[in-house]
Amino acid sequence: MDIHEYQAKEILARFGVPVPRGGLAYSPEQAGYRARELGGSRWVVKAQIHSGGRGEAGGVRVCKSEEEVQDYAQSLFGRQLVTKQTDANGKGVYRLWVEAASEITQELYLGFVLDRKSERIMIVASAHGGMEIEDLAERDANSLRRMVIDPAVGLVPYQARELAFSLGLKGGQIAQMVNVLTACYRAYRDLDATMVEINPLIINGTGDLVALDAKMSFDTNALYRRAEIAELRDRSQEDPRESMAGDHGLAYVGLDGDIGCIINGAGLAMATMDMIKLAGGEPANFLDIGGGASPERVVRAFRTVLTDRNVQVILVNIFAGINRCDWVAEGVVKAYREVGMTIPVVVRLAGTNVEEGQRILAASGLPLHTADTLAEAADLAVGLRLKRAA
Ligand code: GDP
Ligand code: MN
Repeated sequence: MDIHEYQAKEILARFGVPVPRGGLAYSPEQAGYRARELGGSRWVVKAQIHSGGRGEAGGVRVCKSEEEVQDYAQSLFGRQLVTKQTDANGKGVYRLWVEAASEITQELYLGFVLDRKSERIMIVASAHGGMEIEDLAERDANSLRRMVIDPAVGLVPYQARELAFSLGLKGGQIAQMVNVLTACYRAYRDLDATMVEINPLIINGTGDLVALDAKMSFDTNALYRRAEIAELRDRSQEDPRESMAGDHGLAYVGLDGDIGCIINGAGLAMATMDMIKLAGGEPANFLDIGGGASPERVVRAFRTVLTDRNVQVILVNIFAGINRCDWVAEGVVKAYREVGMTIPVVVRLAGTNVEEGQRILAASGLPLHTADTLAEAADLAVGLRLKRAA
């Protein structure tokens, strides 16, 4: 789960990372008010969306007057901000962070990630951070410092000092960097994070380290024990199809194709998507309805798949072990009637109670297409889709 920059800054500050003073705004007026409240003569207005790359996309601006703050805020609110990291739809801007502007002498990069190879938390750092870090990482991978943390002892001070030295920091900055590294590591570990990133970590006008940006992601499977983190969820930043499916206990991932998939089992869902591709089609989604799916659950699966306007054909593929084909068939018939289906539906059932399932489908009198094998079902779905396109 991702959170906003201002939330990550609040958390990291609690652990001891220095951040600029700022305030949150839900309207242009409030943004202006925040600027007055903060005082000074330069403010940064930052769109709060679950994505980086806002600077390049026009979502971050240094403003020199309260009017400028308010005008710029006006132009941001309600906009879909498209960045390098979002899809073509972008993410909606509904919150702004107004911050006292900092003077930048140097931009560093600092990241904490889970390194799958060493199965440990790894620090990635660079003396050259900011908006071009990705280009730099590609051009000159050696400019990135990497350090793996031993979970038995945690991040030890000499290790942190070594990293600070290698980044070319001097004098008091060394102790400040050790403090920042320790704080980020504790936040990562104590809150079940999967990622902490500060880019840029700046050296400001007085030579001090300050986190100018912050990003944190959390392990969704640990949210049950991190209520204060779970609360930070912002649904406006999620794919509505995926959050709705999640609410109904369905594992759904939206894709770009037009053949909607309703499958039981993640492995079978992957195999079905492969077969659709092999038959020359493109799946519109991944969807695992799980074992023991009741007719009601099947109806919800249909509703979820149909929220995607691109879907031209639905393919139901069930291999019933724990599940029962007659239940699934009942669900399909129910869904077909309830949603007023206008597109073709292909059903392939196999396993427990398959005869009863097929009998229910046939007796319904609905124009369902049935198939015995997965290959047949995929061919049928792709054929029906092509017929619709013609
Ligand atoms: P991102 O593009 O989404 O990663 O957003 P950032 O928070 O990193 O901001 C983008 C860029 O805006 C930074 O790399 C800075 O160069 C610039 N910026 C952000 N805050 C300030 C500030 O307080 N003062 C100055 N001078 N520039 C800033
Ligand atoms: Mn950034």
